[in-house]
Amino acid sequence: MAQIQQLSSHVADLIAAGEVVERPASVVKELVENAVDAGASSVVVEVRRGGMGLIRVTDNGCGIAPEELPTAFLRHATSKLRQESDLGRIGTLGFRGEALAAISAVSRVDICTCPAGALTGARLHLEGGVGGEVEETGAPQGTTVSVQDLFYNTPARLKFMKKDTAETAAVMGLMQHLALSHPEISCKFIKDGVEALHTPGDGKLSSAVYAALGRDFARSLVEVSGRGGEVAVHGFVTRPLAGRGSRSMQTFFVNGRFIKSPLLTAALEEGYRNQIMKGRFPGCVLHVELPVTAVDVNVHPAKTQVKFAREKEVFDAVFHTVVDALEQDGKPAAPGRRE
Ligand code: ADP
Ligand code: MG
Repeated sequence: MAQIQQLSSHVADLIAAGEVVERPASVVKELVENAVDAGASSVVVEVRRGGMGLIRVTDNGCGIAPEELPTAFLRHATSKLRQESDLGRIGTLGFRGEALAAISAVSRVDICTCPAGALTGARLHLEGGVGGEVEETGAPQGTTVSVQDLFYNTPARLKFMKKDTAETAAVMGLMQHLALSHPEISCKFIKDGVEALHTPGDGKLSSAVYAALGRDFARSLVEVSGRGGEVAVHGFVTRPLAGRGSRSMQTFFVNGRFIKSPLLTAALEEGYRNQIMKGRFPGCVLHVELPVTAVDVNVHPAKTQVKFAREKEVFDAVFHTVVDALEQDGKPAAPGRRE
């Protein structure tokens, strides 16, 4: 028998799933991103036992046509990308067509969905990636995905699961990012039966900041808004005196996607030069918007890193926006000062 053989698609799927679905919080992230891409104005996330008991995400988005439901769970099946050239202008959070396939490969999934305008919805159950029949069912417009018994068929992964509290905290972080990235979406997070976060979805970033990050943080903020070249920046930064001991309250979004970026961190902090004590760091909720062709999001499966085509332009836009806002805020009785 040949030494080298191609893996069965089942084993290949399990390996690929491990990359996308690292932990319960990654399931939540993918499902929530799908809800956003579906144009939902309301997203409810329910988690039990840090996601190991249950993860359920309900949205009121566009839904999935019943006849397309099984296809949505195939690897590399997506409605968001058609051809090579589309990779250069991605405007959705998802595009890899891997999440539903990966999640269903390592858990038991129930999906219930009803497209806008349809009279009836559809339901599908999958275990370890294998689906049953699509059944007709009554359902409100939108989609509910329930995930149970995560990693039941990958014992190696199961062994390394963190404590429930760590997972719940990670999901809370994701929900905060969702709320702050889309103030027009009402986000609700229910952990072990108790509501832990609920944003109004009134479209105002300030409301989302208040609901997601709390009153004290919200009160320490200055509003910022600026533009440089093709780059627009808006959001909130902390006043210099409200510097913190870590960077944990720095949140950046690029075209609505939460990302970690040394470049944006540096631009923000440079804006506080000489104004903030050594060892203290500013906090922020900053949205950076630029043409989708000027940013590459296809850097890593988790999609939390991006590459900017013109880094200096992005740096300068953020830096100057922050400097201008702090300067304005520092002036006595400056117009537009917030209390
Ligand atoms: P991707 O998001 O990268 O396209 P997924 O595996 O997450 O891949 O989803 C596959 C497809 O299923 C999506 O492209 C979309 O058409 C559909 N889909 C998934 N979740 C939802 C949802 N909550 N509402 C509407 N459509 C969905
Ligand atoms: Mg997706």
